[in-house]
Amino acid sequence: MSEFLFRSSRDGTLTAGFSAALLQGLAPDGGLYVPCAWPQLAAADFAGAAALPEVAVPLLAPFLAGDPLGAALTELAREAFSFPAPLVPLTRDGRLALLELFHGPTAAFKDFGARFLAACFARLRGNASSPLTILVATSGDTGGAVAAAFHERPGISVAVLFPKGLVSPTQERQLTCWGGNVRSLAVRGTFDDCQRLVKQAFVDPQLKAGGALSSANSINLGRLLPQTVYYAAASLATWRAHGERASFVVPSGNLGNALACLWARRLGLPIGAVVLAHNANRTVPDYLESGQWRPRPSVATLASAMDVGDPSNMERLRTLFPELEGLRAAVSAVSVGDEAIRERIRRGYRELGQVWCPHTATAAEAWQRLPAEQRSRGRWVLVGTAHPAKFREIVEPLIGQPVAVPAPLAQLFARPVSCVEIDASLDALRAALAG
Ligand SMILES: *Cc1c(COP(=O)(O)O)cnc(C)c1O
Repeated sequence: MSEFLFRSSRDGTLTAGFSAALLQGLAPDGGLYVPCAWPQLAAADFAGAAALPEVAVPLLAPFLAGDPLGAALTELAREAFSFPAPLVPLTRDGRLALLELFHGPTAAFKDFGARFLAACFARLRGNASSPLTILVATSGDTGGAVAAAFHERPGISVAVLFPKGLVSPTQERQLTCWGGNVRSLAVRGTFDDCQRLVKQAFVDPQLKAGGALSSANSINLGRLLPQTVYYAAASLATWRAHGERASFVVPSGNLGNALACLWARRLGLPIGAVVLAHNANRTVPDYLESGQWRPRPSVATLASAMDVGDPSNMERLRTLFPELEGLRAAVSAVSVGDEAIRERIRRGYRELGQVWCPHTATAAEAWQRLPAEQRSRGRWVLVGTAHPAKFREIVEPLIGQPVAVPAPLAQLFARPVSCVEIDASLDALRAALAG
């Protein structure tokens, strides 16, 4: 079997198989890995497959062809997709539904990608002599999902760096409740300091000599590709039940989740429109409108996991749609301010009995702003990216009710916390990793 290849989004002659692309994270020229070709899949290829692990196998098999991990795909899928992504109708006719991606261990969609990547790394490192250290800089959700996914994996340790005092109390608990092979480092600095330290660590000879370092950030192909699975499953379910394509409204920041939806559509799945729902960080909506790409510093909003002013996956989006006109035809984008997010959380509860996190509410508001004619056509799916209990400080005062905490999150909240405070310097990071 010939090996399926991925190429850099910059120099297309730099290619790697699936496992190599995962271990490298970034391509050698700093680009992001994208598939060299688009296998075409039809609904018939998924006959009998409905649950996520069943859909994952035919969907991902072409990408793992000829790769050392190919033979383990069924196991990888079972391990990563061990919780469901229910499609819940929001209206009586079911033309509007919510895809709930928040039933994993840390109650956000990042659990899917992080768990798939961890399952892959565990196998790739199976017989390595020195331990692998995964470094993650996080301003919130990513660190928790990665820590949960790698916790208690033999041969792998994780260091999570977060800016001390700059994450919400709920988020901080998720970053510091692990212990064992997960170190939580509260950096006296900003998120940018955390990112800088991780970058410096990767090129530090002293740390390199101590053992292999890798990253698990959202640009890793091993996190992006498995996210296509829930779009495939939801669109197939819609197609089978109604013979219509599903259109998706995706809460977006770095565009990883939205890109997975577009990749699923490119692979032939029955997906209609894709709408990118952004908060006040308007870089992408402005680009679609003006044609000028103007990345900028992020601004803080209620939907904080989408506070991105220079989305890294834009580079992948451009390889998919090199011309602006093509991109405009393929997606649309809406920007929603904090006051509209608040009002949508209130109305979601009042009108539909739904309790939404600020990110999910951004998608609900973006959908409302589509032309009525577009909304009334076809089947629409709002993507629910996090459980509202993760943002209860924001949500509870708006709906005037306590938010019930789901069991996996309650278990996390009950664990003892531990963390080490460090200065924002490479010396301090070296010392923390050595200890
Ligand atoms: C990360 C995150 C997003 C944004 O996803 P991207 O892939 O960065 O676009 C949206 N909502 C929540 C809850 C998140 O954690």
